[in-house]
Amino acid sequence: MQPTDALANWLTDWPMALAHSRFSAEHHGDFPRWQDAIDAMPTAAQLAAGSPQLAAGAVGCSLGYGKDGSGSTNAELLRKLEASLQALHPWRKGPFQFGSIFIDTEWRSDWKWNRLAGAMGSLANRRILDIGAGNGYFGWRMLGAGAESVVGIDPTLLSCMQHRAVQRLLRHPNHWVLPLGIEEVPSTHAFDWVLSMGVLYHRKDPKEHIRQMYALTEAGGQCVMETLVIDGPAGLYPKGRYARMRNISVIPSLAELQQWLEQAGYSNVQLIDLTPTTTEEQRSTTWMRFQSLDKALDTTNPSRTVEGWPAPLRAMIVAEKGSA
Ligand code: SAH
Repeated sequence: MQPTDALANWLTDWPMALAHSRFSAEHHGDFPRWQDAIDAMPTAAQLAAGSPQLAAGAVGCSLGYGKDGSGSTNAELLRKLEASLQALHPWRKGPFQFGSIFIDTEWRSDWKWNRLAGAMGSLANRRILDIGAGNGYFGWRMLGAGAESVVGIDPTLLSCMQHRAVQRLLRHPNHWVLPLGIEEVPSTHAFDWVLSMGVLYHRKDPKEHIRQMYALTEAGGQCVMETLVIDGPAGLYPKGRYARMRNISVIPSLAELQQWLEQAGYSNVQLIDLTPTTTEEQRSTTWMRFQSLDKALDTTNPSRTVEGWPAPLRAMIVAEKGSA
């Protein structure tokens, strides 16, 4: 159980025992099945796993064995690895590539990373907090850009399990995805970069979420806020579903979002990207076999959701916390 233990050393005051306790059948009935799948993975040594490849769209590593599928032992190892990874379905954020196994995730998260990478620049010596990290895909890309460490938090246990599986192969000492919600994390430790991507619209009190992000940002540090927005004067507070998603409390207008960041104390609030989400960027695959965005858009008018709301548009903002 390496990651959480090592983490506790420097993230004092974080509820590590709580995080730890969530890797259990008591917390999630599927945990034993997921953990069994991870335990059944061939080891990095058996697979002759190469060093982590974090700079390309698909995060992963080469495998010395099984690449060409020839030889029964090699083919068997690869088959086992693929079965373990498939047992952690659905894979939403990625892609990943391990030898010849390509995890074609629901999202082309590499596209989102390409929109962000230039604004973040070199991350040498930077400590990063990724709120709603999913399986840690962006964490890998940030480590690839030189980050010293990345702490991801995500209350969805399956995301943490996927991270655990990837870690079996990539074995990075400074990358965690912990099963914690942002509301459970104390503000006693600040980070050079704090990311919140795809999380704001799930929070009941979006302004409080941004205030919390601010408290977690080091003086002189920066944040990334990425969320659904409305291209218009007023935000949307959907009572029912939005694009088939439950629990969407707010989709702010761009002006509202920028104002909330400034009110929280951030300065130099800059919109770095505004992109409609397409069915090329988010779609069903063999690694995410449930319904995806195409089923959430109005077939006769794809600029609307099935509920009649404006189709998903995402803004990415970078802002600074002034030096004390
Ligand atoms: N950041 C990734 C994932 C976005 S999906 C990306 O941009 O692609 C939103 C994630 O936020 C989900 O994985 C969900 O589990 C997580 N999430 C939901 N509520 C949260 C909370 N209170 N604190 C932290 N993460 C949360």
